[in-house]
Formats: sequence, C-alpha cells, structure tokens
Amino acid sequence: MARIYLDNNATTPVAPEVAEAMRPYLAEGFGNASSVHWFGQRAREAVEKAREQVARLINAPPAEIVFTSGGTESDNAAVFGVVDGVRPRTLSGPKHVITTSIEHPAVLYSARALERRGIHVSFVPVSPAGVVDPSEIESAVRPETILITVMLANNEIGTLQPVEEISRLAQERQIAFHTDAVQAVGKVPVDVEKLGVDLLALSAHKLYGPKGVGALYVRKGTRLEPFMHGGHHERDRRPGTENVAGIVGLGAAAELAQRLLAEDASRLAALRDRLEAGILARVENVRVNSNPAHRQPNTLNVTFDGIKGESLVMALDLEGVACSTGSACASGSIEPSYVLTALGLSADDARSSIRLSLGRYNTEADVDVALDVIPRVVERLRAISPRYATANA
Ligand code: PLP
Repeated sequence: MARIYLDNNATTPVAPEVAEAMRPYLAEGFGNASSVHWFGQRAREAVEKAREQVARLINAPPAEIVFTSGGTESDNAAVFGVVDGVRPRTLSGPKHVITTSIEHPAVLYSARALERRGIHVSFVPVSPAGVVDPSEIESAVRPETILITVMLANNEIGTLQPVEEISRLAQERQIAFHTDAVQAVGKVPVDVEKLGVDLLALSAHKLYGPKGVGALYVRKGTRLEPFMHGGHHERDRRPGTENVAGIVGLGAAAELAQRLLAEDASRLAALRDRLEAGILARVENVRVNSNPAHRQPNTLNVTFDGIKGESLVMALDLEGVACSTGSACASGSIEPSYVLTALGLSADDARSSIRLSLGRYNTEADVDVALDVIPRVVERLRAISPRYATANA
C-alpha cells in the first residue's frame, strides 16, 4: 500500500541534501568542536558554517545564534532565561509574563511552571480565527511585566500572529519579547529585524533537518540567565558538547529552506487549497479552523461533525494516509485540544477535528489520494456514529 504523509507539522522527513551534509560528521569528522587539534578544528569550522547558514535564514548576526537540542529547549531557555535574568529588586511586585492561550506546550507549560514559582502570568485569549489582538496584549501589560512571548505560527491550526505589532509595543516599554517560530521558519519569511524580536526559537526537524537540534536567536544586549550550567560552550549561553552532525544538518536545512522558501510556499498553498476545496466539496458538515487571511501555507485543520478525530486518524492510517488530531506532543491525550477550545469550539467539536499538514515532498497525486480516501472513511465512520445520526436525523 502506498503511504502518504500529511503530518509535516509533527515532523518532516530529512532532506537528502541534509543527510548528505551530515554524513561525514557521523564518521571521520567526529571531533569535539572545543578541541584544539585538527579533528576539533574541523568540527568547529562546520559548527560555525552552520551558524552562518541559520543566521542568514532569519537575517540575524551569526553571533546571536545559540544552538540547542530543539524547539522545546529553545523556548524554555528563552522563558526561564529572561525571568531569571531580571533582578527582583528592580521591580515593585512579583515578576509578570504575558503569553497567549494557544502556545505550544513548550511555552505554555513553562509559563505554568513560572506560576508555581510565584510569578504572575497573563494568558491572553485569541479570536475565533485563532488570532491574538495586540491591544489585548497591551492591556495586560503591568509595571512588573518583564517578558511577552507569542508564537509566530500555531502548530495545530497554522494561524500567524501579528508579532511585528506586539514586539513594537514590547520594545516601547523595554519588555523582552520572545517568539516561538518553530512552525514558521522555512514556511514563511522570518526576519528578526523586521519582526523586532529579542528571542526566537526554531527547530531543525520541522524544516527537513534532523531531530534533537535547534537554535535560539538572542538579540545582543538581551539579559539572559543560562538555562543549564556546565562548560563555556556557545559563548557561555548553552553548555554541553555541540551536536556537530545535528548542527551541520540544521545549517544545511536552513540553507535549503532559504533557497526553496518561495517555491515551497506557493506550491504548498496551492496543494492546501486543493485539499481544502476538495474536502468542503465532497464532505458535508465540515468546518475549517484557521484564519483564512493570515495562515501558514501548509496546514489544514478540519472539524468533521459527529465523529472522533482519533478514530478518523486511525481509520485513515489503515488506508495509508498519515495525519493527526493536533499536536504530536498531546497525542494519546483524552482532553480536547486546548487550541481548538480557545477558538470557541465545543469539546465535542474539538474532539472531531484533525490536522492535515503538507510538506515539500507531497504532490498533487498525494492530495488526490487523500481526497478519495477521506470522504469514504468519514462516511463509514458517520454511518456507525450515534452522535452523527442523532444530530442529523
Ligand atoms: N513549538 C512549536 C510551535 C512546535 O510545533 C514544536 C514541536 O512540535 C515545538 C515548539 C517543540 O519543538 P521540538 O520538537 O524541537 O522540541
């Protein structure tokens, strides 16, 4: 059976060019990038080349790129690093952080951990399209606000947030601003100068690189307490022997993403539109969850009335179509997606939704197979769904 992968927001395949670039560093180029000898210097050169490649993709100076173990670490390092970097005696009350209700768990649960430490956190709600209103962020600002963190692109529904506007108001008030750009980098243009961010998280495995490596952009002058303690790696910002092969992979993926960004984005948007139009035409009682005006080109989140998203994902998998109910980090959870309920969906509707996320290697033929399989599977599941029968009697 041919298998079609429509879960590129969970992870992407490693691009062949990336695997090729990494290969030498898994073999004879094994040196420790901190060693002074030839082996070490070869690894160091590779790490510094990757730093330039990543920096170029987001229009940052290479010295402001810190390599990490991935998006989760970058987000944690940003959130805890800023909070721990501010001295409490400069504030009159408990430190305060602003975020949104639809952040990825890497930020959301970090914010909840801050609350357990006595730090105040405002979780700003989003519109039914999943967009945060900058004026609501502005209203949440207090004299003790030290950090605003708002994601650039949502992993479940693909909406893009008005990060430029929010960073401007943070800058005017000298509040550090972090954005989780893990789902945006490689899909939409990301320019740290244009966005005006102080910190930005990205992850290699969402842009056709390897798993377990990412980066945190840290604007010069940002006060950041290291999240981990150890050696003097990464200019004292992130201790630990560098994952040289992974970093080389991230660099190669970044360079490729820069070259292919425009082409990938327009091709994926066309495929996404074909998939969306096809589902809406062939299946009744469905809704698309996103902001049609401002979203990633590859993501489609759809509610299919009367059936469980989990059952649909499993039934589609049996027919060779791989997708998900939302965040891979939440799979197996019986709770409805907090992102979808934050948009105002009922728990039942949130549980009846799936995410289809396209990637560089998907073709029109893949979309057409999905459009053949999805209506059949939905019809079959609805035929045995008491909930659907009652609602549509
Ligand atoms: N932030 C967002 C928006 C994500 O989608 C993900 C991964 O799903 C992460 C952070 C975490 O990245 P990583 O898997 O590299 O830890």
